Parts: sequence; C-alpha cells; structure tokens
Amino acid sequence: MTTSDILIIGAGPGGYDTAVYAAKQGKTVTIVEAARVGGTCLNEGCIPTKAFCRNAALLDDLKEASTYGIEGCTYTFDFQKVRERKNQVVEALRSGVETLLKHKNILKVEGRASFRDAHTVEVNGELYTAEHVIIATGSVTKYLPIEGLHLPGVLTSKEMLDIDHVPQRLCIIGAGVIGMEFASIFNSFGSQVTVVEFMKEILPNFDTDIAKRLKQALSKRGIEIINQAGVKAVERRDDGTLVVNYEVKGAMKACEADTVLLAVGRAANVDSLNLADAGIEFTPKGIPVNENMQTNVPHIYAIGDVNGRCMLAHAATFQGMRALHHILGEADAIRLDIVPAAVFTSPEAAMVGLTEEQCKAQGIAYVAKKSFFRANGKAVSMNETDGMCKLLADNEGHILGCHLFGAHAADLIQEVCALMNRNATVQDFKSIIHAHPTLGEVVQAAAHEF
Ligand SMILES: Cc1cc2nc3c(=O)[nH]c(=O)nc-3n(C[C@H](O)[C@H](O)[C@H](O)COP(=O)(O)OP(=O)(O)OC[C@H]3O[C@@H](n4cnc5c(N)ncnc54)[C@H](O)[C@@H]3O)c2cc1C
Repeated sequence: MTTSDILIIGAGPGGYDTAVYAAKQGKTVTIVEAARVGGTCLNEGCIPTKAFCRNAALLDDLKEASTYGIEGCTYTFDFQKVRERKNQVVEALRSGVETLLKHKNILKVEGRASFRDAHTVEVNGELYTAEHVIIATGSVTKYLPIEGLHLPGVLTSKEMLDIDHVPQRLCIIGAGVIGMEFASIFNSFGSQVTVVEFMKEILPNFDTDIAKRLKQALSKRGIEIINQAGVKAVERRDDGTLVVNYEVKGAMKACEADTVLLAVGRAANVDSLNLADAGIEFTPKGIPVNENMQTNVPHIYAIGDVNGRCMLAHAATFQGMRALHHILGEADAIRLDIVPAAVFTSPEAAMVGLTEEQCKAQGIAYVAKKSFFRANGKAVSMNETDGMCKLLADNEGHILGCHLFGAHAADLIQEVCALMNRNATVQDFKSIIHAHPTLGEVVQAAAHEF
C-alpha cells in the first residue's frame, strides 16, 4: 500500500496541473494515468487540432496569394508531413509535461485506477491510498442510439486526428465546437464538407448573432451546413460509400460521404472507476460537485470534463486549483463563472460571460453594442474584414459578456475576461490606451459605442 497526501486519477490538464501545483505546496501526490500524460487535450484534442489549424491557415493564405501580388505559386500538399508535424508538436509538449511531473513529491503510476473504498484505489493489483482524492478522468466521445455509428469509416475526433488521408467527401454529424473546427480544417485541406446538425443554429452555447455570422462565413467557403436535421441512420454501400440518412422538416434526405465524423458531444469518463465502492454519486451529466469541486463524499473531488460543468481544458485546470485551495484551507479569487470559450475555425469565434439569449431568459437588463472588423485599420491591412464584436453591459455599465467573431478572436477575448474579473465597466475599458493599429481596438470600439 502506497500512501500520499493527495491521489489524483487522470493526468490531463486538470490532473497534471493540479499535481504539479500541489507538489510545489509541499504535498505528496500520487497521480495515476491510464494512457498518456496530457490527457485528451494534449494528445487528441486542443493541441493536435490546433496544429492542423496552422496547416489550414497556410493553405488558405496560399489560395489567396495573388491578392497580395504573389503570383505563380505552385505547391503540393503532403498530408503525411502534416501528420508528422502534428505528432511532433504533441510529443514535444507531452515530454514537457513528463518533465514537470518529475518532482520529488510526485509519484506517477501508469495504469487504470479503480476505487476499492473512499480512500483507496487499485492500479495493476497495487493499492494506493490518500487523505484526499481528486478524480480528473475527463470525457469520451458520446454516441447516439442510431444504427451504423460503428461502421468502418465512421470516426470519432480521436480517430479523425489519425486519419492517413484527406477524405474527398466528409460528413460531420454535430455542429458544436469540435464538429465546426474539423469542418473548417478539412475544408481548407480540400474535402467537400457537409455538417448535419439537429439544433436550429451551429454552436448551441454561443450567442446566436455570432453563430449565424460564423455559419455564413463558413458557408461562403463552401461548407454545407444543414440545421434542424435529425440523423436517423448511417449505412455503408458495397463500394464503401457511407450514407448519412437524416430527417429535415419532415422529409428524409441523405448525405453521401467517404468518411463520417461523429461529433455530438462528450460524456463523463467514469466507466472503470467503480464509483459505487467509494459511495460517489453520479448522474448522466457527470459527477455532481459543489463550488469547491467536492463530490457528495467530502474528501473526494471531481474536476474537469468528468463533472460535466464546462468541458474546456482551462476550466479543468482552474477547477483543479479550486479543489487544491480547498484542500489546503486557502480561499482564492478564481472566478469560475468567467470562463472564455473559443472555436478555432477560420475565422475564429470566442465568447465570455452571458449571451443575449441568457440575459433575456434570466430577466437581466442589458445594453448590447457592436463594432466591426471592417472599420479596423489592422483588420483591413490583414484582409480580415469579416468580423464583429458584441459587448453586453448592465445599466451601470458593468460588462456582462463579450462575443467575438473574426481573426484572432480567441486571443482578443482575453482582455474582456480580465476586465470582467475586475468587475470593470465599459467606461473603465474606454480609458485604457490600446496600441494602434491592433485588432484589440475592435473590442474597445464596441465599448466606445456605449
Ligand atoms: C477534438 C477536441 C478538441 C478540443 N479542443 C479544445 C480547445 O481548443 N480548447 C479547450 O479548452 N478544450 C478543447 N477540448 C476539450 C479538452 O480536451 C477537455 O476539456 C480537457 O482535456 C479536459 O481535461 P480533463 O483533465 O478534465 O480530462 P482529460 O484531458 O480527458 O484527461 C483525463 C485523463 O484521465 C485518464 N483516465 C481516465 N480514466 C482513468 C482511470 N480510471 N485511471 C487512470 N487514468 C484515467 C485518461 O487517460 C486521460 O488521460 C477539445 C476536445 C476535443 C476532443
């Protein structure tokens, strides 16, 4: 039996960051990982998709080269090299995480952890016990109860990242963040992309204004997006063609494809944990936790995707910090209600805080003001004029939310997060000097509209 102060199950961005921070605070930590350190984010999520995004952006620029007076460009697209580069990026970052975990206070255990009781887990027949346990086992691809989703050629996002060719016809089921990122990437790579989505808009958690504009921009680039379409079944013909059958406005339609990507969301990963033996409650949405990330068993915490609160890497990391501060008996100033989110399509979209729809539903009085990339010097110079910023503030001017669509939206949103963390008003924002010409001025321009 090995004993430590804190036992962490899962070494994704929730688990490994918390382990390193706890070790630096003098706590002994055992961290158990069933697959590869870095978790979904590093190995099969955030990072490999962003490596692909870079290839996609370069290809898009090459296609527009003549706009910039660059003529006669010829190039070939070597997808094997694209994959190799993506793998190198992932490996380099993973070795960085391995190094971080080589701390004298951290014991890294390879294997799958399963609870034996509320303080003990078993890994490869060995027992590990701790005063506090943090579950950080992430999530897995969600499946729909429809026929054909296990046919060859129907891939999860993990499998799609390892595909060895660019499919000629790609059908994506689901227009959430993962679906739209793959749609944008593979459209740039040359696939004919169709997205089939059950909801009325793409990106259901985003402000409708932004979702609509992004849909228009992606449609202009040749991506077919079909909303309010319920997939009924996927079939495979003898020649290997996959047929996605869906119902839209009462009529059955079909989309033919060489590859189908299933991107209908993610589900908490608890299958092998044996939660019952530790008395931990679980719902289909994940392991319920309070504001300190405690489960119903007070010394056991659940952070990141597995609690189903906010399936983003940075949310996992900061929830881990909250859990650790609680274990250490320290208060913190982390605002877990202010979490930026981004979708790395071309162009990008990003948001923080409340959407207009949420303000209306919650009866919150608000004022919304907009600014546009086409009026920004840097955006025009970059030929990135398709974009908008929408800022929401309450009657006293406190910023309630910001919704962005356009080049570098994911980076731009950060300034508003900082302001919201300080409960700043649009008046405060107006008085902060911004460098010129920068895209940051677009966001400030929305504040100047108040
Ligand atoms: C394609 C894709 C793109 C994404 N892009 C982004 C993005 O751009 N930005 C962003 O913020 N988020 C993104 N996400 C979401 C992000 O990956 C997750 O929110 C994040 O990884 C959650 O971190 P976590 O620590 O909770 O879990 P994970 O990263 O999933 O890590 C959990 C770890 O636990 C291990 N594990 C599971 N069960 C056990 C067990 N019983 N014993 C031991 N180990 C176990 C797993 O092997 C895994 O390594 C993306 C996700 C996908 C799929």
